[in-house]
Amino acid sequence: MPVMLDAFDENFQLIVWNQECERVTGFTAAEVLGKSVVMEQFYPDPVYRQQMMAAWTERGHNYRNWEWEVTCKDGSIRTVSWSNLSDLFPVPGWTSWGIGVDVTDRTQAQRTLQDLNTLLEQRVAERTAQLEETNQELQAFTYSVSHDLRAPLRVMQGFAQALQEDYGDRLDAMAQTYLQSITTSAIQMDTLISDLLAYSRLTRAQMELRPTDLNQVVAQAHHQVQPQIAATGATVAIAPHLPTVIAHAPTLVQVVANLLSNALKFVTPGIPPQITIEFALQENQVCLNVRDNGIGIAPEHQQRIFRVFERLHGVETYPGTGIGLAIVEKGIERMMGRAGVESQLGQGSRFWILLPGAGTL
Ligand code: ADP
Repeated sequence: MPVMLDAFDENFQLIVWNQECERVTGFTAAEVLGKSVVMEQFYPDPVYRQQMMAAWTERGHNYRNWEWEVTCKDGSIRTVSWSNLSDLFPVPGWTSWGIGVDVTDRTQAQRTLQDLNTLLEQRVAERTAQLEETNQELQAFTYSVSHDLRAPLRVMQGFAQALQEDYGDRLDAMAQTYLQSITTSAIQMDTLISDLLAYSRLTRAQMELRPTDLNQVVAQAHHQVQPQIAATGATVAIAPHLPTVIAHAPTLVQVVANLLSNALKFVTPGIPPQITIEFALQENQVCLNVRDNGIGIAPEHQQRIFRVFERLHGVETYPGTGIGLAIVEKGIERMMGRAGVESQLGQGSRFWILLPGAGTL
């Protein structure tokens, strides 16, 4: 790489100005050597010149790789990285001397990169804002549709009930079955709507995260599924001394209750569910595990079951709406955590949630 070389005498007049100095600045040696006005030429802006001279004096003329913006003969500005070497290699007669490298291309590339970065960040911010807006509109839409669907459904349920009460004795067995199907479907749809509303609320609600005692969360979730436990004859073993995590307690209770409810539900008929709740510490995070002895999930389905409405069985085999795990995933995501499953078909499952430990606050 060609290097610029210059030197000043004790009167601060240029006495060395090599070819590379000429090439970079456009000023020939004849134009600058022995002149005392060179500084005004190279740094015409008085403010910049003053700053530079002040810094120069302050550093005692000894500096390395100091980048200056030199104004060239044609008015263009080039960045030169100067190192003054007078202290290291004193040369008789050269009061101050140094070498410089033209780094204009590099600094320009850096600036372009910075500009591009800024542009990119702006674009990302704009797109994110657009996405958030669309998302909010979609959520508002889901909410209002779910809400509005409830009114006609209630009417249907009401009339089915009236039919049963007022005309039940005049309906034959077939008509009774039809009526029962209407009522069952209406209840199923009502549950679906409640679940959708719960999911929708979860995505919109403000969530304040604070230290949350997992012992209490698990106890509350356990209490919620008590009827299912009683009905199935399940055993639920809960590890003592669960740690504290950073979470939104009501949402976490709902998440754990959903996992428990699934562990109680997806078992081979006739086999009492056996569930274990325990934890593992992973650096600053807490992994809560819900293990069951249920039907298990084939690896190829393990991701999709966390999406809304994704179910692996018909409602006649295992009732449900397909929203429980979507609530788990969304809830945990809103609490800065992650959720997943480890399972093999027929060998039970381990559903896990990973949350920041209380020490991370
Ligand atoms: P739902 O329980 O209403 O069907 P979820 O979203 O909670 O909906 O679960 C989605 C699907 O994931 C279930 O229909 C079931 O096929 C599967 N699944 C969830 N939990 C378990 C489990 N513990 N064992 C086996 N399969 C499960």
